[in-house]
Amino acid sequence: MSYQKYLREACYVGGDWIAADSDALIDVQNPATGEVIGTVPNCGTEETLRAIEAAKLAFPEFSSMPLLERVNLLWDLQDALLDNKQSLAELLTIEQGKPLAESLGEITIGAAYVRWFAEEIRRTKGEIVPSPTNGRKFLVTTHPVGVVGMITPWNFPSSMLARKLGPALAAGCTVVAKPATATPYSGLAWGALCEEVGFPKGSVNILTGSARQIGGAIMSSPDVRKVTFTGSTEVGKELIRQSADTVKKVSMELGGNAPFLVFEDADLDAAAEGAIISKFRNSGQTCVCANRFYVHSDVYDAFVEKLVEKTNALKIGNGLDEGVQQGPLIDDDSLAKVEELLADAVDRGAKVATGGTRHELGHTFFHPTVVTEANQSMRVAKEEIFGPLAPIFRFDSENQAIAMANDTEFGLCAYAYTKDFGRIMRLNEGLEYGMIGVNSGLITTVEAPFGGVKESGLGKEGGSQGLEDYLDKKYTAVDFDVAT
Ligand code: NAP
Repeated sequence: MSYQKYLREACYVGGDWIAADSDALIDVQNPATGEVIGTVPNCGTEETLRAIEAAKLAFPEFSSMPLLERVNLLWDLQDALLDNKQSLAELLTIEQGKPLAESLGEITIGAAYVRWFAEEIRRTKGEIVPSPTNGRKFLVTTHPVGVVGMITPWNFPSSMLARKLGPALAAGCTVVAKPATATPYSGLAWGALCEEVGFPKGSVNILTGSARQIGGAIMSSPDVRKVTFTGSTEVGKELIRQSADTVKKVSMELGGNAPFLVFEDADLDAAAEGAIISKFRNSGQTCVCANRFYVHSDVYDAFVEKLVEKTNALKIGNGLDEGVQQGPLIDDDSLAKVEELLADAVDRGAKVATGGTRHELGHTFFHPTVVTEANQSMRVAKEEIFGPLAPIFRFDSENQAIAMANDTEFGLCAYAYTKDFGRIMRLNEGLEYGMIGVNSGLITTVEAPFGGVKESGLGKEGGSQGLEDYLDKKYTAVDFDVAT
């Protein structure tokens, strides 16, 4: 095992690795075994204020570094991630639980985000807007927003930071980041990697500890000009409220409730395969996980049969073991929530087609579960499940499917399986979602803008759009006839 190489039990502030002022520590557990892997500092307000100060001091030099120098640092960061892919992936699996193959994929896409934004920043252009009169020029130029606060969740502890650090550093912003308490090591590893490749002291700061104190210091500081958050809608709303006092820019990647539509003309084998990827990846703990399966009555039984067969074939276990496809849930509360939602569905008429119980492996392992005869009165129709439970609803017409899919305050990602091109275009217009996967259960890619509408968020990560929130636009009007 090489994961110790990036297991840092200290926070990275101003280029130094520090303990909490109080020396308080937080235990970090492996969800697959319950074992304590190590500790991290329990930092609070004071350490965060010092990190913000370090980022503020580093900003003038970092933002005015020649562009190619900054781009080269990002290329080196990409190389460092890929050179240490195995160690970083093992660390991720040990603290988060996901299968090693998924962790390797997460590190790889994180490196791709860093590279993408190193490429994109070189193509960021301003404008010269035509003046209605002679003797004037109107320039529109782009400038880094300043110090950026980042708060990230435990489900993708490495790549959620990659999607924020990549564009922020490319733009010339400096950073104060707080990874989730359950999975701090993959976040702290970014500090170690940035140090290793030579990012200037203070340009990247990473703190673990009290969410309220670290978050509070970030949100109330007038020196932090932007906050980017990935996590629950509940916390996101609170941060939007807090951002008002200092009028910060905010980007919010929040919760989802993805519908997965299977039409009567769908390739059912492909739909079942896509359903497995979309539903059970990361044990059902992704924001874009299919939450509700809507299947046309004509193909309902056939789809359920295929999905159950594939679900039963999934190998459950410790993510480090060969061939494992589903690991544990992150903690006891997550397990309890899946059980509650399942019990509610069964009370309201759902039938368990497979799974439905805790796994013999104990801890937070749960059998991947499919339930049929789901209906809109069940909690699974409204709430983000965030676990390996697939409820299957019925529909009889396209309009009904679209209406049921949109019947939620969320709007992150939707999926549809159909071969009818006209229908695909109607879905593109009718589905109120920021992302739509057609005949695909996995659509995240660095080249495209990831992000939701409605209560799933504000702003985009990835694509050319992923840089925009880290750059302010400045308008300069020049009268050039004055000297003659
Ligand atoms: P969470 O409870 O909202 O936590 C996310 C982060 O916010 C963690 O670092 C957490 O710190 C911190 N936090 C919690 N309360 C805070 C507060 N009052 N002030 C400042 N920071 C605070 O979400 P989660 O359970 O980790 O993640 C799951 C959620 O994230 C799901 O809803 C999922 O859909 C969403 N998600 C969305 C996307 C997307 O791109 N749209 C991607 C991934 C996940 P602690 O860990 O210390 O509590």
